[in-house]
Amino acid sequence: SNDTVEVKTAEDNAFLMDTLVQMRAHGENADAAVEESMKRIEEIENLMSKTIETSDIYQLNNNPNQKIEVSKQSLEVLKKAKNYAEITEGDFDPTIGALVELWGIGTKNASVPPENKIKAALANTGYQYLNLDDNYAKIIKAGVKLDLGGIAKGYAAEEVKKIVEKNGVEHAFVNLGGNVLVIGDKVDGSSWKIGIQDPRAGRGDVMAIIDAVDLTIVTSGNYERYFEENGKLYHHIIDPKTGYPAENNLLSVSIISHNSFDADALSTAVYVMGLEKGMEFIENIDDVGVMFITKELDVYLSSGLEEIVNINDPDFNLIE
Ligand code: ADP
Ligand code: MG
Ligand code: MG
Repeated sequence: SNDTVEVKTAEDNAFLMDTLVQMRAHGENADAAVEESMKRIEEIENLMSKTIETSDIYQLNNNPNQKIEVSKQSLEVLKKAKNYAEITEGDFDPTIGALVELWGIGTKNASVPPENKIKAALANTGYQYLNLDDNYAKIIKAGVKLDLGGIAKGYAAEEVKKIVEKNGVEHAFVNLGGNVLVIGDKVDGSSWKIGIQDPRAGRGDVMAIIDAVDLTIVTSGNYERYFEENGKLYHHIIDPKTGYPAENNLLSVSIISHNSFDADALSTAVYVMGLEKGMEFIENIDDVGVMFITKELDVYLSSGLEEIVNINDPDFNLIE
């Protein structure tokens, strides 16, 4: 007899959290899983956006020196963000908002700011100005601005995972603008094939494929949001110590692991650290891998990743 099983599939795409969100799920409750996930992502955006006036982050940024009672969800993200700021010695810093606003990368007004303004924004950057308690948060210096753009999508991906699991759905894929998470394998029992985008600015194709089962792949690159001035590229990952876009020879960093929330913070942090320091940092964390791509198109993998990363563009060289 023919015992092919019909598996229900649900899909949705939406522009949320300032990025394209794509989701697919397979299983009896696939519809509910996708619908609830999209709702949750929107809820997270409404809590953590810098620009939505009712968000926790907007309230904090615009009411310095006041205890603000924030949602449990925002507090969880702020705590993780501050913790990563501490362990990366400020390479990841959720108080990067003043600098992000000043540079305006990704907006029409992007241009290289004058030195004195960078100095002023640097003085308003520092995770020590963020106080967190069990049910409130507080910014203790006027002018300091939170920006969770480097971590909130990872949090959202983990929330999607919980919703998928709660619905008993065994196969799902979500991509929040470069934060990819797969749950289970594919319906046919094979691994998901996740493409890593060619990080050369303007190219849209894939340069490597990762075989993924229950995995997250979070990429930070200089090609996503940037502008050019006098032949130089200025991108959206800011070094909190200099106030300028992190300067190194990297095009992109992909973190490959099992927790998207952590991976998101790590991808941003490791991009700021650069190849040498970043590789050492990741090699010291269990169960977390990293792939670096340099401007010379050299690819560096942390130990163990060769088995799942398949480079399929001959322009790129795996350095062993
Ligand atoms: P993407 O925004 O493409 O997901 P990232 O996860 O690397 O890329 O996050 C970059 C965003 O994080 C920036 O657009 C900005 O909002 C914020 N950001 C920039 N520099 C830092 C930093 N050093 N630490 C924390 N967040 C940062
Ligand atoms: Mg990030
Ligand atoms: Mg990200």
